[in-house]
Amino acid sequence: MRLGNKVALITGAASGIGRETALLFAEQGAAVAAVDLNEAAVTALVAEIADAGGRAVPVIADVSTAPGCEHMVAMTEQTFGRLDVLFNNAGIMLSDDGDAISTDEGVWDRTMEVNAKGVYLGCKYGIPAILRSGGGSVINTASFVAVVGAATPQLAYTASKGAVLALTRELAVVHARQGVRVNALCPGPLRTELLMKFLDTEEKRQRRLVHVPMGRFGEAREMADAALFLASDESSYVTGTEFLVDGGLTAAYVTPE
Ligand code: NAD
Repeated sequence: MRLGNKVALITGAASGIGRETALLFAEQGAAVAAVDLNEAAVTALVAEIADAGGRAVPVIADVSTAPGCEHMVAMTEQTFGRLDVLFNNAGIMLSDDGDAISTDEGVWDRTMEVNAKGVYLGCKYGIPAILRSGGGSVINTASFVAVVGAATPQLAYTASKGAVLALTRELAVVHARQGVRVNALCPGPLRTELLMKFLDTEEKRQRRLVHVPMGRFGEAREMADAALFLASDESSYVTGTEFLVDGGLTAAYVTPE
């Protein structure tokens, strides 16, 4: 059991990376607070974890609000008595996100509220709880777009992920001597609902895959495996990293035919 006796809070747990991570963390011995806005999906997930012999609690909260983040952390401590692993993973990519000229202010603001402010608020309430437990691991989901730009723009999303990466580095430094590790998980393009809704034609999907040396989209489970490493004590000397799990995308200049 790689997460035996640990308590993990996972946001965006109803779908994609969050869902796969909740299943994997529970399988590896963690008690999981599964946080999402989607009550039906997160309740079904918790039942699935319980059926498999794991421990989890559903928490319905909006990570873009302070009361939502305060509530999710309080529920976790009330239910399981502590917090060791905080996975700030919930995020949105709005379909009308484009370049600076085409992106509406409303799209910019909402994307920032969920993706960037949501991570800050998760840390604001989550890090004190981790400190009360004597230390632990924070994992913030950024993206490869925090590191490289794309001609198919999603400006608000890209900027929000840049913010996540920058705040992760700074918090890693701030809390390094308190036993709190803070890392960013930077996924490449994945075959999850979030991206498939954005790349909604086969042509757009193939256009994106041209840049991935492995020639395929990543799977949510492959991000969960990376998050497991960052959550566990196996990564005890790892903090402040941009952990790229991207099929080689950011290493590529020219990709194989
Ligand atoms: P997903 O859409 O499958 O799941 C995201 C979950 O977050 C959903 O269950 C949704 O209900 C929840 N959520 C959205 N807003 C919320 C809010 N305000 N409060 C609480 N929950 C909220 O997405 P995914 O692909 O699993 O993405 C997870 C993370 O990975 C996101 O931060 C995303 O930006 C990032 N990411 C995804 C990709 C990709 O290709 N899919 C690539 C890089 C980074």
